[in-house]
Amino acid sequence: MSLLEVSDLRVSFRTTDGEVQAVRGVSFDLEPGRTLGIVGESGSGKSVCTQTLLGLTTGARVTGSARFEGEDLLTMGEDALRQVRGARIAAIFQDPLSSLHPLYRVGWQIVEMIRAHEPVSRAVARRRAIELLGAVGIPHPAQRIDDYPHQFSGGMRQRALIAMALALDPRLVIADEPTTALDATVQAQILDLLLRLQQENGMALIMITHDLGVIAGLADEVLVMYAGRIAERADRRGLYYRAHHPYTNGLLESIPASSGAGARLRPIPGQPPSLIRLPSGCAFHPRCAFAMDRCRNEQPELAAVEEDSRHRSACWLPSHLLGTNEQVKQERE
Ligand code: SF4
Ligand code: MG
Repeated sequence: MSLLEVSDLRVSFRTTDGEVQAVRGVSFDLEPGRTLGIVGESGSGKSVCTQTLLGLTTGARVTGSARFEGEDLLTMGEDALRQVRGARIAAIFQDPLSSLHPLYRVGWQIVEMIRAHEPVSRAVARRRAIELLGAVGIPHPAQRIDDYPHQFSGGMRQRALIAMALALDPRLVIADEPTTALDATVQAQILDLLLRLQQENGMALIMITHDLGVIAGLADEVLVMYAGRIAERADRRGLYYRAHHPYTNGLLESIPASSGAGARLRPIPGQPPSLIRLPSGCAFHPRCAFAMDRCRNEQPELAAVEEDSRHRSACWLPSHLLGTNEQVKQERE
C-alpha cells in the first residue's frame, strides 16, 4: 500500500475577482521512505496541494481524496487531523521565524510539541529535545536549548524546525521551500541534513521548491506543476535525460550548469497565467514555442511518455518529434 495516495485533488478559492482554481485535478502516490519533489513557479499550486493535505487551506473548496496510511485526510475530522499533523506527518516551511514562536524558548517549544502527542514527562521530553538538537547539528545543544529563536542564526532556526519536525518520528515530512531564505552554503548543509535524517529514519519526504536544481539530484520522483496541474511526472533520470514537456525543459534550461562558467541562463519567457482566467486548452500555450492549434483548444491529459513507464507528460507533442529536445540536451552537456 502506498503511504500517500492523492487522487484528483481540486482546490479553489472564491475571491471578489472570481474563482481561483489553485489545484485542478492532481493525482500522485508516494511509497514509504521515498522522496518526491514538487517543482513549479509561484502560483503553480505546489504549496496549496500539500497545505490542503494538512488541513491548512481554510475556506477553500476541496474535492478528491488524499489517503494517508489508508485514511482520507480530506474527510478526517479536525481533531484527528491535528493528531496526524505533527505526529505522523510533519511540515517544515520556508520561514522558521513564522513557525517558531518568537516569545518561547526553542527547547520549550519542542518539549511542548512532544508532550502534546505523547504522554511523557517534561524531563524525558527535554532529554529528547537535546538529543534532537544535537542530531540536527546545533552545537552544545544542552546549553542552547533554552535560547530564544532570535538568538539562533537563520540556519540554526531551520535546523531547530527540522528537529521539531522529527521529534515524533513522522512517516512523512513535507518541506516547503525549506532553504529558500538561507544562503547557498547553509542551503546545501540543510538539504544534506534532511536527506541523511530521512535515510536514518526511513521517512518519506515531499520537497517543494521553485528551483528544479535543488531537487533534481535528490528526489526519487519529480512532479512538475504548472497552473494547478501536473505537467510532467518522471523519475530523476527520466527528468534529466528524457524530459518531455516544454515547460520542464524550460525549467532545466534555467538551472545553471554544474560546470558553471559559460553557462547561459535562459528564463522561460512570459508569466504564469492568472488562475482566475486560465488560457484555453493547454495552460502553457501562451509561453510555449511548440504551441499548435490543438494546444489552444484542447487540454492535454497526463499520459505515459513511453509504454509501461511511470514517466508521464501532459503535452500534445509526440515524443519522437521533440528533436529540439536533443538539441537542448547537447547544449546542456
Ligand atoms: Fe506546448 Fe502544446 Fe505541449 Fe502545451 S500541449 S506544452 S502548448 S506543445
Ligand atoms: Mg509556496
